Amino acid sequence: MKRRHTQSNGGSAKPVSDRTDSLQLAEKEIDRLYGLEPVINVDDVTGVDSEATPYVVIACPYCGESFETKIDLTCGSFDYVEDCQICCQPINLKIAVNDAAELTGVTALQLND
Ligand SMILES: [Zn+2]
Repeated sequence: MKRRHTQSNGGSAKPVSDRTDSLQLAEKEIDRLYGLEPVINVDDVTGVDSEATPYVVIACPYCGESFETKIDLTCGSFDYVEDCQICCQPINLKIAVNDAAELTGVTALQLND
């Protein structure tokens, strides 16, 4: 009566391709996490940003040049003074915003008016 010890050397060896697979998966996972997250965040911020605080083009009442400025529509209509980006003179801006926080008008006046 012979007893045969079956050693399980072969059984414990995992195929190389399996290891490579999970490594690639992990790298893809990291790529996905680090690659997509900022894109979603930027997209999100940009979307909110452009609605609540859009850029408007203002024609300077002093020099006649146009420039873009950012305005906040979340607080309704308002007046404020902004220096012209070209000639640096103070412009009295009247921003009209309706109840739906939509821009309805931008008036640029000389501060002295
Ligand atoms: Zn100007």
